[in-house]
Amino acid sequence: MLNITAYHCPTTISEAVALLAEEGCAVIAGGTDLLVNPRYMVGVREVVDIRKLGLDYIRHEENWLCIGAGATMRTVARHPEAQGLAHGVLAQGAALCASPNIRNTATLAGNVASALPSADTPPALLVLDAQVVLTGIQGERIVPLEQFFTGPGKSAREHELIRELRIPLDTTRKMGGGFYKIYRTAEDISIVNAAASLLVREGIITMAHLVLGAVAPIPLRARKAEEALLGQSPTEENLRQAAEIARDETRPISDQRASADYRRRTSAVAALRALRQAAGLAKIEEVWQHG
Ligand SMILES: Cc1cc2nc3c(=O)[nH]c(=O)nc-3n(C[C@H](O)[C@H](O)[C@H](O)COP(=O)(O)OP(=O)(O)OC[C@H]3O[C@@H](n4cnc5c(N)ncnc54)[C@H](O)[C@@H]3O)c2cc1C
Repeated sequence: MLNITAYHCPTTISEAVALLAEEGCAVIAGGTDLLVNPRYMVGVREVVDIRKLGLDYIRHEENWLCIGAGATMRTVARHPEAQGLAHGVLAQGAALCASPNIRNTATLAGNVASALPSADTPPALLVLDAQVVLTGIQGERIVPLEQFFTGPGKSAREHELIRELRIPLDTTRKMGGGFYKIYRTAEDISIVNAAASLLVREGIITMAHLVLGAVAPIPLRARKAEEALLGQSPTEENLRQAAEIARDETRPISDQRASADYRRRTSAVAALRALRQAAGLAKIEEVWQHG
């Protein structure tokens, strides 16, 4: 049962972080996890609404694409820059998250902050080498997303606000990317998801990122599969072999959505389909057009 004793709606970041420094105080962004999942409410007595902090931006800063903590999934999915980056891998992840009404309020930063292994956008952000900008009473620090997740629902975040997520544009602009989600219904969390990014120079893969969701306690970077791709040409056969290596790296659990065995087997399917998109061997479905 909800037991909220205070609702705060600060208008400055310093006011917000001062409130968050108190025990039992949590950010509320879209509220689609916080108000729905009782796990997030344990020990939460006060909420800090971040809607009036002016963080609903997506903008360039030098060579970064900066996505503020107030940017919703819909905003991200529809943003031309997100759609153009690495075949729109992040826009795809955001567009396939839940239903239109959830995407209208759920934020990208909230999806990261929840740190669920099955979340849709962390794999896409990871293959884009994203960073998390955390603000607390001690100031600001930047954590590579790669180091952010520490376990199911756990992260490197202390009593801090995720102010924004940042994606480096110098390398990502040249990458191919892909995202594939296996799920029961269009509104459901992933059974398995996969995101990939590849850099191909003169027909040879010079950089490969492959991340699988819902198959390990945190989004899984399939490092052996990535290594197997380096120096290879992006052929169907090479991608298939890498997807099979990635499958063998997974450590899935069984739950109400799928058995561990089903997850393990379908992780190779998701990985291959994401890699095909990244290599330009499969048509990228512009899922963000569906609203
Ligand atoms: C019906 C339904 C379907 C869903 N389907 C999917 C799906 O398909 N894929 C998927 O990935 N998710 C899905 N979700 C989960 C949810 O919508 C997402 O995780 C969403 O992105 C959470 O964002 P939010 O803004 O609503 O976060 P909130 O619920 O407001 O917050 C979630 C958690 O993050 C913290 N938090 C939020 N923002 C910040 C911040 N800026 N700084 C620090 N902490 C913060 C909160 O304190 C809380 O602990 C679904 C949820 C529902 C209800």
